Amino acid sequence: LAGSVHCEIALDGYGRRVGGLRITYSDDVHAFGHVRVPVGVLSGGAGSTVLLVAGSHGDEYEGQAIALGLLHGLDTTSLSGTLIVLPALNAPAVAQARRTSPLDQVNMNRAFLGGAPDGPSAAIARWVQAMLPRCAAVIDLHSGGRTAVYADAALVTRVADEALWRAHVAAARAAALPVVQVLGASSASTSLNSAAAAQGVPMVAMELGGGARTDRSSLAHGRAATLRLLQHFGVLQASPPATHAVQHWVEVSGPEAAVVVKAEGVIEPLVDPGTPVARGEPVAILHHWREPERPPSELTAACDGLVLAIAARGNLKPGDHAALIASLLEEPLAHD
Ligand SMILES: [Zn+2]
Repeated sequence: LAGSVHCEIALDGYGRRVGGLRITYSDDVHAFGHVRVPVGVLSGGAGSTVLLVAGSHGDEYEGQAIALGLLHGLDTTSLSGTLIVLPALNAPAVAQARRTSPLDQVNMNRAFLGGAPDGPSAAIARWVQAMLPRCAAVIDLHSGGRTAVYADAALVTRVADEALWRAHVAAARAAALPVVQVLGASSASTSLNSAAAAQGVPMVAMELGGGARTDRSSLAHGRAATLRLLQHFGVLQASPPATHAVQHWVEVSGPEAAVVVKAEGVIEPLVDPGTPVARGEPVAILHHWREPERPPSELTAACDGLVLAIAARGNLKPGDHAALIASLLEEPLAHD
């Protein structure tokens, strides 16, 4: 069973320190063992603290590369505060390039606020939650992983607290990624976003490409957006200027968002992530390799919106999503 967490490095004090969180864990393989979750801290002295997380899902690599790159690449003299980096949060899942932990089968982004049974994932989530009160903001880097390719997007939660909602909108603007996805009432209640919101800590998540590879364009977008957020939250003194403003604000509003495959087949996408589509517009063709007599089927968008993600796998099974169509929103607080 998992329980205590020992952090090998001091989180307070000037400079750069890198080590691990040791989570006690015992099973058939690890009799007196522990799970080691990489952790680093960079501090330029007094100021705000920001928590940067990647690798919640082990098959999402863009964020891991960005977080590890910044951990070693940022000069502490360029910081006016502290950055705590967890570049491979679900380390057991990262080790096996899986979405969920091979130790307890938990989806790390459903393990917060008591969402997971006792185990390594729940212990990691508790440690992160205990860090939140000292943080001015949280940045959590995701991608489409093995199953999807996303439009590069910032994600913020719509919250009832007016000041926190304004902070989320301002941070999403500052990130200046092409798309902002607003997470509404239907978003997971046991995600890191929900844990941060519950403590009143502003948080921006990102979706950066995907497809179980590291896309150079998504990496560049994500790295620049992370640096802009670190400056926005007061931890970094300067960041690369935004070349574009946010182009689309979207929300995944209901079940019609998913373009679902009804038969097994090879998918041929007709649209790229980030493209606006109208209801009824074809977004993919399904080729029925198992029923070669059957002509290809056209899959259409069930609502107007923006292609937020497309399937990353070529061979889809019934129930798989060929695409995810998000509804376009008016820009929130546009006249502030
Ligand atoms: Zn993820």
